[in-house]
Amino acid sequence: MSLSLNSESCSTVASGDASRQGPTTAQNQEFLAFFLSARSDRATLSWPILLQIGLAVWGACVLTYVALGVMLSVVPRGVAPGISVAVGVAVFAICLRRARRDVTRANRTTALSRALLDANRECLKWLDADGRMVRISEYGARLMEASGPEQLAGSNWLGFWSNEDAIAAHNAFHGAMNGARTAFKGSCATTSGIPKVWHSRLIPIEDGKGGVDGIICASMDMTQEEELAAALRARETLMSEMEAHVGLCFYSYSADFTGFHHISAGCASVFGLDAQTFRESPQAWMDLVLPEDLPQLKSAMGRISESKISQKALYRIRRSNGDVRWIQSTGSPVLDSAGNVARIVGISEDITAEQDRLVELDRLAFTDSLTGLANRAALMRRIDEDCRKKAPFALMFVDLDRFKVLNDTLGHTAADRLLRSLSRIISAALPPGAFLARLGGDEFAVLIEGERDKERLADIARGALGALVQADQARRAGTITASIGISVFPDNGANRETLLTSADIAMYAAKKAGRNGYRFADKDSSERIVDFELERDLPAALARKQFQLHYQAIHEPRTLEVRSVEALIRWRHPKRGLVSPGVFIPILEESGFITEVGAWVMDDALRQLSQWRRGGARSLGVSVNVSARQLRDAAIVDVVDSALRRHALPPSTLQLELTESALMDDPSLAQSTLGALKKLGVRIAIDDFGTGYSSLRYLADFAPDCVKIDRSFIARLEQDKATRSIVSGIIQMSHTLGMSVIAEGVEETAQLESLRRAECDFVQGFLLSRPVAPEDMSGLSIAAQAVDDRLRSPASA
Ligand code: C2E
Ligand code: CA
Ligand code: CA
Repeated sequence: MSLSLNSESCSTVASGDASRQGPTTAQNQEFLAFFLSARSDRATLSWPILLQIGLAVWGACVLTYVALGVMLSVVPRGVAPGISVAVGVAVFAICLRRARRDVTRANRTTALSRALLDANRECLKWLDADGRMVRISEYGARLMEASGPEQLAGSNWLGFWSNEDAIAAHNAFHGAMNGARTAFKGSCATTSGIPKVWHSRLIPIEDGKGGVDGIICASMDMTQEEELAAALRARETLMSEMEAHVGLCFYSYSADFTGFHHISAGCASVFGLDAQTFRESPQAWMDLVLPEDLPQLKSAMGRISESKISQKALYRIRRSNGDVRWIQSTGSPVLDSAGNVARIVGISEDITAEQDRLVELDRLAFTDSLTGLANRAALMRRIDEDCRKKAPFALMFVDLDRFKVLNDTLGHTAADRLLRSLSRIISAALPPGAFLARLGGDEFAVLIEGERDKERLADIARGALGALVQADQARRAGTITASIGISVFPDNGANRETLLTSADIAMYAAKKAGRNGYRFADKDSSERIVDFELERDLPAALARKQFQLHYQAIHEPRTLEVRSVEALIRWRHPKRGLVSPGVFIPILEESGFITEVGAWVMDDALRQLSQWRRGGARSLGVSVNVSARQLRDAAIVDVVDSALRRHALPPSTLQLELTESALMDDPSLAQSTLGALKKLGVRIAIDDFGTGYSSLRYLADFAPDCVKIDRSFIARLEQDKATRSIVSGIIQMSHTLGMSVIAEGVEETAQLESLRRAECDFVQGFLLSRPVAPEDMSGLSIAAQAVDDRLRSPASA
């Protein structure tokens, strides 16, 4: 029956693909059958068993017969063979039954072995005492990529190994041959030369005589696992290298922050502690956190578990070497299937460099680059903070008087130097703790916290103004004074805008009051608010075409013929209607916009004159007012020249009116600009003559073509004899110097008569004509004629 088992397996061995489907029962049967057929004596020696059975039957028959012969007297002779055969049959039946039982047991053992083999995923080899493969399992052959077990039969198993693996194989083999179960791991190639890693166990096969005559070697193909493990190791190495080099610390924390599952090598560069320290003492990094930053860090940590969403925390640590570093940690909860926080993963990063950059950027953003003081943005931030604190404080607006003029004359470099030195002077004059900022240009602001007492604040303002004057005397370089406006929180406003506006308005009030002084903001400052609004609206006025020129005729006193017109600017404010130049010209001067606006005036006046001249008023001239600031800008010469060319007008048709003070602001500069203008051929008139320096000396210096006697003299002509002689003196003197004279502000006929008598060359005033829009000046000579008639009638009456 064992034989039939063997042949059965042989018939099915070739079917199936072991490498794909795993070993089939039949294949293992083959190995097992081979083993059994080679090893099991009892299985192949079943004939002797049958012989034994036969002998036993025969022996039983013979013995029975003999015994019956002895007992012939008892048993009849003819019955003896029959009884012997019956005993033989009984013995045969017993032996057969036992043999059958043995075969059944052997079958079961084989089946069990087969099942065990089916479960096996190893390359099974039966090695002889010399290390040759007697047989390899079918599955093993597939693992070895052999065409079948026969291909490897007889090959030297020890020869498959090389180097250290060969030594290990030898040791394992000899150990097993000495009766021990051994194992080793090594690499050997398959028949097609592909290296595989094997874990081999060697089990000795006892020869039944106390010795070993062979070995079962079970080798597990570990190649995939090894590759996987190697890949994992490589990835882990790569990860830890990366983690160590990116300067980030990756971590996985237990949900209650009591222990780390993982912390990357980057922890050393971030916290200055190695991973081991963290593992041993998970709270070690918390000990590094600055105490003042700890509460917010802990609350961020608490929020992760509570809100189950990622949190970021920025905090400082002090490393063991004393270095304070900025750390940013991000923690995200990992939830389990029940939605509970299973662990917290995240990254910590040393962002000190970035933080330093931010601080530096912040510093730059809030510092005035010229003086190193706080800038406008810093002041705004500080005011907002102080407003929030709701504690009283004072805001002072400090505006240098006429600095723009200085800026133009000194040049920017010297002016910048001056600003720096002035900022130091102001700063030194302030009480300790005062916050000084430069708002730009010549504007400074001071914030004095905790102070609302006007007396104290006035002292501080006086101190600053005094320091400027003192420094000024020491320098002896022109006059630098300042005007200060002071607003107090909360009296003058509870927010930044109102406080700034109030201080600004107060500052303008100080300027209006004659500069070099201070003013407190007060509730009754509607007029100043208007100024403030105007100043705010002025820059856009030109572009919005809100300026307009009106013209006032200048007459020959006797014929009252209109000889020329004075261009007078008007501002048509969208809300406030016509605004007088007396209000906005000083603001234009202060802000520097006068240059632009002045150029527009020049162009528009000459355009209008050219139109009138083309319309018949052939000998008409125009007077244009030029302010001190304009005169200081050498570009005025170009402006005038190009406007004249543009409108094709002879230069002599244009008269520029300059005030005494404009000329005296910087006499030498004024003189050179005047010289250039005169060269062009335009006429120069001294406006408001008699109100300023009242020195006739500079008449000779500047050699104007004309003087315009200020209307304050004309107003007093009739009441005051002295004034009459002054006026006639000016006229005579001017004539002597070759200059003509215009009397302005003529409002009464008596004044006109006086001026006629004094031989004044021209007259101008409401009596004769008011400044009007150009379209209302139609028929210039006719208008003069009408005035003449009006004047003559009362005289003749
Ligand atoms: P100003 O140059 O002395 O101009 C004469 C001012 O006296 C004008 O005032 C005019 O309307 C006024 N006026 C004329 N006749 C009489 C009169 O009989 N009685 C009285 N009480 N006033 C009279 P306005 O137009 O308000 O100009 C004021 C000042 O504004 C001017 O004084 C001038 O200095 C300045 N201004 C006007 N237009 C310009 C301009 O285009 N550029 C510059 N830089 N300044 C200008
Ligand atoms: Ca004038
Ligand atoms: Ca005037």
